[in-house]
Amino acid sequence: MIDKLHFPMPCRRDSKMEYEADDDKQWIAKINEEVAEVIRAAYLGDGYELALELQDVITVCTSWQAALGFDFGGRQKVCAEVNDKNRRRGYLGE
Ligand SMILES: [Mg+2]
Repeated sequence: MIDKLHFPMPCRRDSKMEYEADDDKQWIAKINEEVAEVIRAAYLGDGYELALELQDVITVCTSWQAALGFDFGGRQKVCAEVNDKNRRRGYLGE
């Protein structure tokens, strides 16, 4: 069963701080932190750990989108637009 638990849920805080909606520097720092964890996991060679860390990046991106005012439907619309753009460009390998 697919429910909202199976989609990225926006977060407004982590173990260190609360993220301000309009503070781009905080969000950029958080994405960089998570990307560094992706790189570490990639070098360790554990595919599942890498998948978890990639999901953390997706969650931060989702959280920033939410902070910008995009609710679940708004984020789906943005996702569809990017998927459509990538399809038109032939990037999906279909
Ligand atoms: Mg992480």
